[in-house]
Amino acid sequence: MLTPEIARLWLNHFAALIDDNKAHLSDLDTPIGDADHGNNMARGMVALTEALQAKPDLDLAGVFKASAMALISKVGGASGPLYGTAFLEMAKTAKNSADLPTLLDAALAGVIKRGGAEVGDKTMVDAWTPLVKATHDGTLSQAVIDEAVASTEPLVAKKGRAAYLGERGIGHRDPGAESTGYLFKALLETEG
Ligand code: ADP
Ligand code: MG
Ligand code: MG
Repeated sequence: MLTPEIARLWLNHFAALIDDNKAHLSDLDTPIGDADHGNNMARGMVALTEALQAKPDLDLAGVFKASAMALISKVGGASGPLYGTAFLEMAKTAKNSADLPTLLDAALAGVIKRGGAEVGDKTMVDAWTPLVKATHDGTLSQAVIDEAVASTEPLVAKKGRAAYLGERGIGHRDPGAESTGYLFKALLETEG
């Protein structure tokens, strides 16, 4: 069961991983996008950590809602509304459940509904989908995370800026899949 305290540790750890890997995420976004994914996410994570710090007494739904609002209001790129929707859907579901796989199901459904991407479209959905499944199966590990993120490399993008490149995007890793990998790495390191 996820508590508000563990959710805070998880999200703050995610923010730290994003900050540490900001340049790498923007580098991944350079050949197949507009080189801003790390900066977009880092700006959002500053807002997220500040929002959580300002409100120390939130319940589980409140923690995810404050996180969602910070991302939606501070990130201009596609990733802000997508992660924002993920956290907003977790906030809604957290009113009735503190079961992590159930919360993550809601997050993934929100990302798919918001962005319209399917598995195989070379987006963060390609990382979210197997990683949410791994939380259900109890098989989440760094190796599973690495495999999910790397699975975007051979794909041709069908959504997002990378779709403009068509086959020229083959061989490049999707930056949003990489940041999603950090979300699950943070979860693994917080729970374990
Ligand atoms: P932008 O492309 O607006 O500059 P970012 O660089 O911050 O935004 O985020 C790009 C990432 O967003 C992509 O790597 C991809 O994972 C994700 N993305 C873009 N469009 C979609 C979509 N329609 N559905 C799911 N994920 C998407
Ligand atoms: Mg970008
Ligand atoms: Mg951009």
